[in-house]
Amino acid sequence: MKRKNNLKRALAFFIALFLFPFLLGAQTSPEDFLGHKAGADRKLADYDQIKAYFEKLDQESGKIKVLTIGKSTLNKPMIMAVITSEENMGKLDTYREITKKLRDARSLTPKDARKLAIEGKVIVLITCNIHATEIAASQMAMEFAYKLVTSDTPFDTDQVLNEVIVLLAPTINPDGQKMVTEWYRKYVGTKYEGGRMPWLYHHYAGHDNNRDWFMFNLAETKAVTKVLYHDWIPQIHIDEHQMGSTRARLFVPPFMDPPVPTVHPLLWRGVALCGTNMAYDLQKNGFKGVVHGRSYTGWWIGACDDTSWLHNTIGLLSEMASVKVATPIYIDPTELPKSYYEKRMQFPDPWPGGWWRLRDLVDYELTLSLSLVKTAYLYKEDFLYNFYKMCKDSIAEKGKGDPFAFVIPKKQGDYPTGLRLLDILMFGGIEIHQAKEDFIADGKVYPASSFVVLMSQPYRAYAQALLEKQKYPDIRQYPGGPPIPPYDNAGWTLPLQMGVSCDRIENPFETKLEKLEQVPYPTITAPSESSPYIILDSRKNASYSTVFSLLKEGADVFRSKECIEMKDFKAAPGSFIIKNTPQIQKILPGLLEKWHLTAYELDKIDDIPKAPLKNPSVALYQSWRSNMDEGWTRYVFDDLAIPYTTIHNKDFKGTKKKKVNLKAKYDVIVFASESPEIIKSGKPSPTSRYARYYTEMPPEYVGGIGKEGVEALKAFVEQGGILVTLNNACELIFKEFKVPARNALEKVERSKFFCPTSLLKIKVDNKSPIGYGMPTEATAMFSRSLAISTWVPQSGDWDRKVVASYPEENILLSGWLLGEDMIARKAAVVDAKYKKGHIVLIGFRCQHRAQSHGTYKFLLNALLYPFSFSDDFH
Ligand SMILES: [Zn+2]
Repeated sequence: MKRKNNLKRALAFFIALFLFPFLLGAQTSPEDFLGHKAGADRKLADYDQIKAYFEKLDQESGKIKVLTIGKSTLNKPMIMAVITSEENMGKLDTYREITKKLRDARSLTPKDARKLAIEGKVIVLITCNIHATEIAASQMAMEFAYKLVTSDTPFDTDQVLNEVIVLLAPTINPDGQKMVTEWYRKYVGTKYEGGRMPWLYHHYAGHDNNRDWFMFNLAETKAVTKVLYHDWIPQIHIDEHQMGSTRARLFVPPFMDPPVPTVHPLLWRGVALCGTNMAYDLQKNGFKGVVHGRSYTGWWIGACDDTSWLHNTIGLLSEMASVKVATPIYIDPTELPKSYYEKRMQFPDPWPGGWWRLRDLVDYELTLSLSLVKTAYLYKEDFLYNFYKMCKDSIAEKGKGDPFAFVIPKKQGDYPTGLRLLDILMFGGIEIHQAKEDFIADGKVYPASSFVVLMSQPYRAYAQALLEKQKYPDIRQYPGGPPIPPYDNAGWTLPLQMGVSCDRIENPFETKLEKLEQVPYPTITAPSESSPYIILDSRKNASYSTVFSLLKEGADVFRSKECIEMKDFKAAPGSFIIKNTPQIQKILPGLLEKWHLTAYELDKIDDIPKAPLKNPSVALYQSWRSNMDEGWTRYVFDDLAIPYTTIHNKDFKGTKKKKVNLKAKYDVIVFASESPEIIKSGKPSPTSRYARYYTEMPPEYVGGIGKEGVEALKAFVEQGGILVTLNNACELIFKEFKVPARNALEKVERSKFFCPTSLLKIKVDNKSPIGYGMPTEATAMFSRSLAISTWVPQSGDWDRKVVASYPEENILLSGWLLGEDMIARKAAVVDAKYKKGHIVLIGFRCQHRAQSHGTYKFLLNALLYPFSFSDDFH
């Protein structure tokens, strides 16, 4: 018996010995899986293949586990791989708990934190391919994962993976990844190979999907933010991108000036440490053309990796020089700009020019990603402990000049939007309290139930940067020279954008506070059946959403011209009067619940000047030039449940026999911000700075609405249509219509006027139909925007009304503004009447990236224009 057992054991040993090398090599390489090397010329793996590859690797190795972190906008599962040692894999929850404990540094002594830093594992998040055409990283990710699980790395992989947990998202825009590969494959081998798509590579946001990281409008942003600040709390996060083709081969941090002032200085040092190590490892391996400290500033907070800085996570960005998607390009040495062929301290090893291929990008990215994992290992204890230290410092008492708190008073013109702000802040990891009693702060009395954001919290830097007003430093190319613009926004203050009042409190105060676990949505009481009329206040965006749904169901809705005084409430001009019926009683409670909206009851409406509303047929124009502002407008409509039809160039074309009649189909046509040349011809003007980036499109996507389209629009307004033009689209009206208005900033030089995406004060006439529901003073997002001059019309066909204008002085609220005189007293919103219809000119970004909820109403009012009011225009 014993002997038999021994034999068995020996046999098993020999079998194991024989199989062992096969077991080790049992992981499939990307090349074997795809049939080509990752990043091969003109070859792309699409998201389905990438996902399938990761799932296969998951089955083949104990060092990788594939998780689904959410669903994309178009409903694709978003995957993220966890790569670490098998031993760590069994204790992931323990390590996630440790990073959470280190963040909530209040209850942790430095000694305990040190212990946790020794015991814990450093978590590194690598996100790829948010910008879908910047596709190299999505291909690289497969090989990177394969190298880690097969120990094919320049370091002792087992040792490193024992201390590091790598989270790898091969693409955080799977919809776009798939669109781009399909478009590329369709045109490979034709003259359109590697060219742009006619639509956005994110269903709503296109490139702006990397501007959403404090607003969380997009499903993808939400999924990754949950990983970042709720589920895993990584200490390091890199987002891998691509840039233009002819400058450096690769950008790695440190970033250039200026920094967001609230970020912990130690964080910037951590960024520099990781970035420099990447550059060092690349240089060591002969990779040329790596630059740091240029182009990308430390100021913007709306990008994926930037938001990490404000959460004490080392946020890094890599930007590879692009090829034409997967098509190699040749760059002649003479095509490289001087500062990229000469040696500089930030750029010590220029790239000489020549062929540049997708595989080059994959190689650089593999090296920098592996370098980052190694750095994480080398400084593991340090990174974990200092994450704690930065959170601890954030909780400590305020420094001189720092605010003590921000208070969001209970009383708001638009309370549901105020609640939405709280929801956004809390999702970003901000702690919010609610006062249980009245209190006084900085000499002002706040009632109980007001919301208090104490700055003493782990994510202080983030909370403060979102709630305070930005003061962008006036930095110039040389003393007295042209201003150096920020990479993106100069100002973004969220309460200003959303039209929610929020006070900065300098001095400490004490009151009874309760920490919110969730947003305290109010309980909504449905209006009584006996009430003949129901009132919805025009100051709330939610009222408009509700009205759109009611109109769709055939409800009788009026807009009141004046305030409506009720027993315990005064509704603003433009408020909605709804006739109560059994049908209304069926649908209204659900809508009020959905939008957290209070309705009011009214017996009689005879004395109220009012006009009936019809259910408007709304059209939104979409060019074939992938216009992000169109995408955001669409997002706002979907978000607010506003029905609309998307129209294209072909919808402006009639037949030989019959001209197109837009009025027969639509009541309102909206043009999002876009240059008039693009709208009319599909091409930028030859003098525009975008002209050189114009690429030829397949014939079905060539052209614009044309002369015929402009004529059709004129006829549309003449017959009583409402034409709405947002920001740059207003130029189409100035150029093509004889409107008594023009852009006062046309041809004004940067030295005279400069305002890089900032928040400005406007005065609003809220008794005019386009200004209904607005406060008399509001905040406009000015981004490549206009200041409109109007005049007394010479023709009786025209009239105009200034709805909003810039004040005389102190126009800047947040960001940077040079030369305010150029826009002082100029119009920001104009209602131009032409024959029977109206053209609503909104000269700034009233729906900017679906962030500026505070000015949505200008657009919503245009959609719900009460016609009979236009008879007494002034
Ligand atoms: Zn990018």
